[in-house]
Amino acid sequence: MNQQELLNQLQTNFRIKITLLIQGLKMQGFAPHIICAWRSEADQLTAYKNKRSKVKFGFHNLGTEKRPRALAVDITNREPLTNEEHERWNAACKRLAENLDLTWGGNWPRFRDEAHFETRAFTLREARRHFGP
Ligand SMILES: [Zn+2]
Repeated sequence: MNQQELLNQLQTNFRIKITLLIQGLKMQGFAPHIICAWRSEADQLTAYKNKRSKVKFGFHNLGTEKRPRALAVDITNREPLTNEEHERWNAACKRLAENLDLTWGGNWPRFRDEAHFETRAFTLREARRHFGP
């Protein structure tokens, strides 16, 4: 799946913010790259069981396969970063997420997930009611 197809799996308002996040990272010389947008509930359960995720249902799972409306996205740099670049990348992610009012998984003390960004506009419960499934 190409980057545009992955962006298209995001809910509209969230997609606008992620587009700005990606632009911001590019302006700092990085090569941001979406690795995961929408995820099926089955894939989510697998991730949970393999301890790659802390939830059985999360913001990646909103909407349906036919009409995905994910409110979470995983982004990394296309190329591996040096330690120094990595620090700069993390600082940029933290600041951009704050400016765009997004939650960044790099701030989570217990399950640090630097690739992960999610909405702050809805609780998971509200989002599920609005967007399903
Ligand atoms: Zn994620």
